[in-house]
Amino acid sequence: MYSCRAMCAVELRRGGLRLSGTALWLDATQKSELSFVSHAHSDHIARHERVIATSATLRLMSHRLGQIPAGLPVPYNRPFALGALQIELLPAGHMLGSAQIRVTRDDGRRIAYTGDLNLAPSLTAEAAQVVECDTLILEATFGHPRYRFPPKEQVLSQLETWLREKLDRGHTPVLLGYALGKSQEVIAFLERRGFEVAAHPSICDLASIYSEFGVALSPLRRFNGTVRSGEVLVFPPHLSRSASISRIWPRSVAVLSGWATDAAAIRWYRSDAAFPLSDHADFDSLVDYARRTGAKEVITHGGFAEQLASSLRERGSVARAVGRPLQLRLF
Ligand SMILES: [Zn+2]
Repeated sequence: MYSCRAMCAVELRRGGLRLSGTALWLDATQKSELSFVSHAHSDHIARHERVIATSATLRLMSHRLGQIPAGLPVPYNRPFALGALQIELLPAGHMLGSAQIRVTRDDGRRIAYTGDLNLAPSLTAEAAQVVECDTLILEATFGHPRYRFPPKEQVLSQLETWLREKLDRGHTPVLLGYALGKSQEVIAFLERRGFEVAAHPSICDLASIYSEFGVALSPLRRFNGTVRSGEVLVFPPHLSRSASISRIWPRSVAVLSGWATDAAAIRWYRSDAAFPLSDHADFDSLVDYARRTGAKEVITHGGFAEQLASSLRERGSVARAVGRPLQLRLF
């Protein structure tokens, strides 16, 4: 058994992951001296003393947390030195500005951390790149074989059919998607398909930041309590039981989420339908991605980390969930 102290690229601590032997945290959830922030979702951000992130992530972070005093905006594919480390950010495809980081140590070892990753084509996020590395720290949100999503075009085509059917019946379709990322992605699709769209104000505010970064989402009507005939309404999922939605009648509600493959999702959101439109890679994509990076060691974290590591080991990789000892294949 290798000693984790000597081998581990990353340590799991209270407040997140830290790159071993360095001051660099990865998506720390508590204030730190220096953290890479992969993207602006609330479970990945905190008011750090210094932040390494893309300019879009910094802008979206400051929308949520207020001014970020020492943000270092880093473009994709422009390596730079941080002390003895070489650092490079590459697109993660998860939402606008989302990034993976590759850290090259002075001994040449390349460690990559994906953050939330999505390999499907996107209308609003930069296309993910494969990060070649020696050690891969891979997110495992959907790292269980039961999460296999149909191709995105197929999901969107089914969504469009469902929407047209509801509108023909005189219903207001209400789509539930995370305010940041998912909503903008579905709005971009709806606009391209000629739908009239109204959205919750929080979604409109974030959409206007998207347009600052060249992802124009217009015309988008700000929901003010009433819907117009023929409109599709986009709302955050946490408001699925709100009075704003209950007052709309007749309505048909659909949740947009990778979790839609779980039947409980439909009941939980009191929705009539669910579409597996995910901003995360599914199980097969994660396994394929790990292989394509050429990593000699994979460390999984979050979601189904144990399951994903075990599946990777079955396929011949050296893999473990973060915080667990490395399990080598001996035979
Ligand atoms: Zn995320």
